[in-house]
Amino acid sequence: MPIATVNPANGETLRTYEAMGEEELERRLQLAEATFRTYRTTPFAERARLLNRAAELLDEDQRDIGRTMTTEMGKPVKQARAEAAKCAKAMRWYAEHAAELLADEHPAEADVKDSGASRVLVRYRPLGPVLAVMPWNFPLWQVIRFAAPALMAGNVGLLKHASNVPQTALYLEDLFHRAGFTEGCFQTLLVGAGAVDEILRDERVRAATLTGSEPAGRAVAATSGAMVKKTVLELGGSDPYVVMPSADIDRAARVAVTARVQNNGQSCIAAKRFIVHSDVYDAFAERFTEGMKALRVGDPLEEDTDVGPLATEQGRADLEELVDDATRSGADVLCGGERPEGDGWYYPPTVLAGVTREMRIHREEAFGPVATVYRAADLDEAILIANDSPFGLSSNVWTRDEAEVDRFVRDLEAGSVYVNGMTASHPAFPFGGVKRSGYGRELSGHGIREFCNITTVWHG
Ligand code: NDP
Repeated sequence: MPIATVNPANGETLRTYEAMGEEELERRLQLAEATFRTYRTTPFAERARLLNRAAELLDEDQRDIGRTMTTEMGKPVKQARAEAAKCAKAMRWYAEHAAELLADEHPAEADVKDSGASRVLVRYRPLGPVLAVMPWNFPLWQVIRFAAPALMAGNVGLLKHASNVPQTALYLEDLFHRAGFTEGCFQTLLVGAGAVDEILRDERVRAATLTGSEPAGRAVAATSGAMVKKTVLELGGSDPYVVMPSADIDRAARVAVTARVQNNGQSCIAAKRFIVHSDVYDAFAERFTEGMKALRVGDPLEEDTDVGPLATEQGRADLEELVDDATRSGADVLCGGERPEGDGWYYPPTVLAGVTREMRIHREEAFGPVATVYRAADLDEAILIANDSPFGLSSNVWTRDEAEVDRFVRDLEAGSVYVNGMTASHPAFPFGGVKRSGYGRELSGHGIREFCNITTVWHG
């Protein structure tokens, strides 16, 4: 894939970039290593000052960077600005909390004595340059979610962003530099996916994090495994959204629409499979379908657009194939399902019912505004369907029955359970999945400690 900005609303190539050559990459790796040697000793207060300054600048830039993101990957511009605001909030959160999250820990006195020590402490030290391989769907957020904790922990970042969001990638490097971080603290490596393997094999790169597809995750994890480097992977999801009879069906249906089509449906934590108890199936399916039909699809730069084009032509073709495969095998189309004529990579909000295990869409991630609705006879069947997926990122359940909530929390195979609401990440809560959605956690104290050398200090 060329490194280029191609506007998904009309397919026009706006800017192309040369990939960085070997010399430039070498210069940047050297700089990362050299910067880490000094940056690792900066006090938390200084790191926090710089990160707060970056948050301030991002707030000032919100309109411009919002438009850039929309032009590069097609998300509605209102959502792009909200993404920028969310990034600034996460930076401030880590600036405020990192020192306390990484404070020395003191094991229990009895254990210290038992080890024969006079004193023991556990210290969180930084690891070094961390490579972040990032996707285009939340081109700012996915990077900040990594960069804010990494920089607060004393690591330095190397960003290999998706090839279709180069302007956002370069903006991020510039943002950190303007905030006062020295050049080597955060660098964008303008390279294609083919260059990642060699960068990962470089001894100066100490760890890697990837958000993206399963094949990309597997490739990065394999090389990192060979090099014995720590990785965090946040891969796809096909999150269940379970609706039980005691739920507020109107609200559940309304939120379901947003949960499915946020970011034009291209979110790993979008609800994708709607599993509804048969007592309320008809009412839910009708309201949900009405809500999906009512969405305004169009130019993502317009303020009142709900759903813009998909980010890439290939992404739309993949989604179309999933829908066609399902309808060929007998799925019912409750709305949408037909690619519109005209420019841009648009796909309409679509609801499919009657999906069976044999259909690809049952097992694969639908990365676009396509929902599947399932009928479940009871709670046990709802849990069975929910877990019948290779993924396990997040999950949503709608019920007012506490006993049912307990069952869902006990049995759903997912990294989080959102009760009577849709999944939305927050800097204070751990984020990540199980099964083929990946491993490790981002955000919260768990996220910042992933890339630390957890050091035991024992005194005789
Ligand atoms: P990719 O996983 O291909 O892209 C994500 C990042 O990984 C990009 O920076 C990409 O670089 C890089 N990459 C791709 N292949 C490799 C590799 N073999 N080794 C190292 N790095 C690699 O996602 P796509 O954009 O192709 O989307 C495909 C599907 O992935 C989607 O339909 C969706 O299912 C899933 N996805 C999930 C996301 C999530 O948030 N969990 C985000 C994006 C996609 P380059 O751009 O240069 O190819």
